Amino acid sequence: MITKPLTTPIPLLQLQVLKRRLPSLHPSLPLIEQSLQLRTSGHKGETTSEYYFKVADSDDLSILFGLRIKSPKGYYFQMDVLVLHQNFYQIYEIKNEAGTHLLDPETKQYTKLGPTGDENRKNPFEQVSIQNYLFKEWLKLRQLPVPSNEQFVVKANRNSIFKMTAPNKEITSQFIPAESIVQKILNAQQSYKHQHYSQVGLKQLTQLVLGDHNEYKMNLFSYFPITEQDIVTGVLCPHCSQVMKAKDLNHWNCVKCGFVSDICIAKEALKEHFYIFQRPVNTRECMEFLKLNSRYQALRILKQMHTVKTGNHKDTKYFLKDLM
Ligand SMILES: [Zn+2]
Repeated sequence: MITKPLTTPIPLLQLQVLKRRLPSLHPSLPLIEQSLQLRTSGHKGETTSEYYFKVADSDDLSILFGLRIKSPKGYYFQMDVLVLHQNFYQIYEIKNEAGTHLLDPETKQYTKLGPTGDENRKNPFEQVSIQNYLFKEWLKLRQLPVPSNEQFVVKANRNSIFKMTAPNKEITSQFIPAESIVQKILNAQQSYKHQHYSQVGLKQLTQLVLGDHNEYKMNLFSYFPITEQDIVTGVLCPHCSQVMKAKDLNHWNCVKCGFVSDICIAKEALKEHFYIFQRPVNTRECMEFLKLNSRYQALRILKQMHTVKTGNHKDTKYFLKDLM
């Protein structure tokens, strides 16, 4: 069963919105585009792999994508895919970067080879080992059994080549192409006979990890050299990026290209505010960002969105539920 489906990661959405809301000649744009490209590629790899997890899926499994839980020492760690079963668990780290990658099993150095020079990368085998160690600690802290377990690094991109400076059996056994995910799950289902969790226990474990999940959000203003004043405000036309004007309570139009939209476009624009600034807004801030003249209109937009309200009267603020 897929108990936590794959969704578009919030940082990817944040970067898409940020790119759209910066002036086209902003000096940080190349850096933001590079980061966006990396995250888009990473997510594409997860989407490719998702297919194979769906093929292998069965009632005795609990498959969780993008789970981010708190280690006993208080910091969060994320697993691309966690597969739970009554008898075992597996952790998968998905890699989608094209090109040739070289691993030195002695020094653990992982390098992307390139025509203009080699670039250091995080060693995915070390990454998945740390995740596995932290997940065991997470289970132990809750006095839960640690079942048999496996960890894999998945090559989701057909155009990527992996090489090692010296043979290493352990590394070779952990490295799989996306197509092999199905076989790895089937093998584990057949070979691990010792039951560590009852059927109910597995369901409880799934609920526990889901309850501890906390989605990662980027603090864009500390990540990139940008300021809050750099952000372009207003309801932007999806076709020509011009700031749109509110015709009445329910209609916005673009004076440049003539595009007309209903209130949805204002809700989308405010959603972008939440993704970028990640803080609650009051009606005045909503009016300012959307360039509205009516407080009533701002309230109408805020109330139609999936927002959570805090405070009363003049101190009332609203925040997007998805980001809490
Ligand atoms: Zn337009």
